Amino acid sequence: MQELWFDPSRLFIGGRWQAAQDHLPVTNPSDGTGIGQIARGSAGDIDAGVAAARAALQDDWGRLSAAERGRLLTRLGGLVADHAETLARIEAQDVGKPLRQARADALALARYLEFYGGAADKVMGETIPYLDGYTVYTLREPHGVTGHIIPWNYPMQIIGRSVGAALAMGNACVLKPAEEACLTALAFADLARQAGLPAGALNVVPGLGAEAGAALAGHGGIDHISFTGSVATGAAVQAAAARNVIPVTLELGGKSPQIVFDDADLDAALPFLVNGAIQNAGQTCSAGSRILVQRGLHKRLAEAMGARFDALRAGPALADHDLGPLISPRQKGLVEGFIAQTDGLPVAGQGRIIDDAPAGGSYVAPLLLDDVPPDHPLARQEIFGPVQVIIPFETEAEALQIANGTDYGLVASVWTRDGSRAMRLARGLRAGQVFLNNYGAGGGVELPFGGRGKSGHGREKGFEALYGFSTLKTVAAHHG
Ligand code: NAD
Repeated sequence: MQELWFDPSRLFIGGRWQAAQDHLPVTNPSDGTGIGQIARGSAGDIDAGVAAARAALQDDWGRLSAAERGRLLTRLGGLVADHAETLARIEAQDVGKPLRQARADALALARYLEFYGGAADKVMGETIPYLDGYTVYTLREPHGVTGHIIPWNYPMQIIGRSVGAALAMGNACVLKPAEEACLTALAFADLARQAGLPAGALNVVPGLGAEAGAALAGHGGIDHISFTGSVATGAAVQAAAARNVIPVTLELGGKSPQIVFDDADLDAALPFLVNGAIQNAGQTCSAGSRILVQRGLHKRLAEAMGARFDALRAGPALADHDLGPLISPRQKGLVEGFIAQTDGLPVAGQGRIIDDAPAGGSYVAPLLLDDVPPDHPLARQEIFGPVQVIIPFETEAEALQIANGTDYGLVASVWTRDGSRAMRLARGLRAGQVFLNNYGAGGGVELPFGGRGKSGHGREKGFEALYGFSTLKTVAAHHG
C-alpha cells in the first residue's frame, strides 16, 4: 500500500485528527485484500463536525476576506499538485482506478482549487434601479454550514467541484465521503490543514451512508446539502433536507447518448465514443454509454468500435491497463446482472481481463452490444460498468426522440459536419451539457455541470457553482 502520512482511521474535525469509536475495513478492489481501516463515523461525529463548522463561521474562517480565502485555496491547490503522484497511487489502490486516470483526477482537484481560488473574490452583487430616494443592491453570502455527501467513483474531482466551490464562497463544510473510498478525502483534509485552512472550515467524517450519511442529510444544523450518488439515495437525501427546508444540489446518474450522424468524422469520434464507456471502467455518471448511430454509418462504426473493444484489457490499477476492476464484488455482481440480460443481442466487441489478474479483484471484461432496441433495459438503465450499447436510427427526429427517451438527462454529444443540425440538436436535447463533435464526460473544471430529470438538479463546476453555494440578499436603502 502507498505509504500514508496521516492516520486514515481517524476523523478530521475542527482542524484536528480525532479518534473514532468504531472502524470499517478498506479493501483494494484490484485484489480484494484489506489495506487498512477508516473511521465508521456516527451521528455524534456528524454533530461534532457540524458544530465545528458552525464555530468556524464565527471564528477565523468567517473573518477572512474573499481574497484571503482565494489565496488559501490556491495554496491548497498547489499542495495537491505537489502530491499528485502520491494521491494518484492512494486512489488507484483504494478505488481500483488505473494510475493515469487517478493522476488525472488528482490534477483536476488541483485545477478546481486553482479555479475557485481565483474566483473567490470575483463574485459580485448588483445594484437595482428602484423608486426615487432608494438605493438597492444585492449581496452574495455563504449559506453557512454546507454538507457534502459524495460517491466512490471520482472522490477527488467531486471534492474539488463541491467542497472547493463551497469554501470559495465562505461556507464551512462537513464532508461525508463514500465508505468504499475515503483515503484521498482524508489526505485532502490533511493537505488543507498544512495549507493553513482555519480550524473547522473543512471537516471530514467517513462512515456508512445509512449512519453518517443519513445523519448529515437530516441534520438540523446544516444550511445546504450537496449530494452526488444514486437516484434512490438522492431522493432520500432530498426528503431529509426538506424536513429542515434547506436547499439541495443533486448530482445523480445518467444514460448519456452520443449521437453519430452519417456525415460525422468517425476517426475523430472513435476515441471519444469508446472512452465514454471505459473511462473508470464505466463507473462514470456522465459515461457516454449509448451510441446512437445513423444507418448509413452503422456497420462501419460497429466494426471500428468493436475492434477497439476487442483490444481493451482490464487488470490491476497500479499496472495501468485500459480498465481497472470495479469498485467492489457487489458492483461487479450488479453489472453481471445486466450482462445476463443481453438476450442474444449481437456482440460488436469484447475486451479481456488479463490472464494473471488477481482472483480477488472485481474485474469485468468490457462489452459492446450492437442493434440494441431503444426500449431494451440495457438501453435505458444506468449500468455503471463497462457495457456500451449501439442503437441505430434513421432520421434526426428519431435520434432526438431516442436520446431524450430515458429518465435521465445529464450529458449528450452530437457528431456531425452539419452545423445547423448540431445547433438544432443542442437546443432539443434534454441534458445539462451538450458536446458538439467532442465528448467531455462532464467536461472541464470551467463548465457548469448537472442534470435534468432523474439526473438531478442544481449545477456544480464552473463559476455557476458559486451561485449554488451562496444565497442572495437584497438590501433596499431609503435615503430620501
Ligand atoms: P450511493 O447513492 O449509494 O452513495 C453515494 C453516497 O451516499 C455515499 O457517500 C453513501 O455513503 C451515501 N449514502 C448512502 N445512503 C445514504 C443515506 N440513506 N443518506 C445519506 N447518504 C447516504 O451511490 P453510489 O452507488 O456510491 O454511486 C453510484 C451512483 O452515483 C451512480 O448512480 C452514479 O451515476 C452516481 N454519480 C453521479 C455523479 C454526478 O455528478 N451526477 C457523479 C458520480 C456518481
